[in-house]
Amino acid sequence: MKRIYLDNAATTALSPKVLEAMMPYLTEIYGNASSPHWFGQEARRGVEAAREKLAGALGADPSEIVFTGGGTESDNAALFGAVEKYKKKGNHVITTNVEHHAILHACEALEKKGYAVTCLPVDEYGLVTPEQVAAAITDKTILASVMFANNEVGTVMPIPEIAKVCHEKGVLLHTDAVQAVGHIPINVKEMGIDMLSLSAHKFHGPKGVGALYLKKGIRLPSHIVGGEQEKGRRAGTENVAGIVGLGAAIELAVAHMRENAARMSALRDRLIEGILGTIPEVKLNGHPTKRLPNNVNVSIKYIEGESILLMLDMNGIAASSGSACTSGSLDPSHVLLALGLPHEVAHGSVRLTLGDDTTDEDVDYVLKILPEVAKKLRFMSPLWKGAVE
Ligand SMILES: *Cc1c(COP(=O)(O)O)cnc(C)c1O
Repeated sequence: MKRIYLDNAATTALSPKVLEAMMPYLTEIYGNASSPHWFGQEARRGVEAAREKLAGALGADPSEIVFTGGGTESDNAALFGAVEKYKKKGNHVITTNVEHHAILHACEALEKKGYAVTCLPVDEYGLVTPEQVAAAITDKTILASVMFANNEVGTVMPIPEIAKVCHEKGVLLHTDAVQAVGHIPINVKEMGIDMLSLSAHKFHGPKGVGALYLKKGIRLPSHIVGGEQEKGRRAGTENVAGIVGLGAAIELAVAHMRENAARMSALRDRLIEGILGTIPEVKLNGHPTKRLPNNVNVSIKYIEGESILLMLDMNGIAASSGSACTSGSLDPSHVLLALGLPHEVAHGSVRLTLGDDTTDEDVDYVLKILPEVAKKLRFMSPLWKGAVE
């Protein structure tokens, strides 16, 4: 059976070129990057070359990049590290109610430890305004953590404007840019970002490796203690092959960003228009234009997202109903509820996220199958019968 992968917000396929770049570091160059012999120094060169590539892609200095075990670790390190480091200033953190659980659950942990967390509500598209952030800042605020782009609905936040209001009031800005890095242009210096989290497996790199950008001068206590790796900012033997893969993946993503984004947003728009045009009572979730090039999220009213996913899967289409972390639980996604969707509409949501490898034919196939699936499920749905009769 033809299989189409449209769950690229959950993870992406490892690019063959990235695997090729990693291979020597999984085979002959197996030294510990801290060792002074040839094996170690070759590994060290691989790590430092990746650091330079990543720094170049973000407009950062290589010394400002700390490699981590992924997006979740970077998010945790930024939040827990910043509140510890700047505890003399206060105990207040600002975030939004559409963040990834790596931020929201870290904030809950902070609240349990006695910190005050302001969780800003978003509008119907998933946006917070710089004015909301400014109004939430007090003289006790240490940092604001606002995601660059949302993993469920693809909404892109006004990060440069938010950074500006934070800096006017002497507050740090952290951004979870896991969905944005490698997909849309980011320059940490021009945008005024103090801390940024990213993860390689969201841009066709390997899983289990990411990075935290820490602006020069921000020196957080190491969140993992042990050896002196990453200049004492993250202990543990470097994941050399993973880091090299991250470097190769970001280099490829940046080199092809413009063409990939143009191609994907055209496919995205064709999917959205096709779905809205053929299935009645469908709602697009997220912002119509301030949106990631690869994200489609719709609510097909009167049917269950989980049933849609099962039937799509039976037809070879891999999609998601929000985030991989929430499927399996019966609660609708916190993001869709934050956008103000009623529970029953949130339950009927499907997320289709495109990748570098998504083709026109894939979109045609989805536009053939999804309306059939919706029709079948609605035929069985008492809610739909009630609505149309
Ligand atoms: C995937 C994701 C994460 C977690 O990254 P991991 O590398 O899987 O730990 C965090 N934030 C957002 C927005 C994500 O999409």
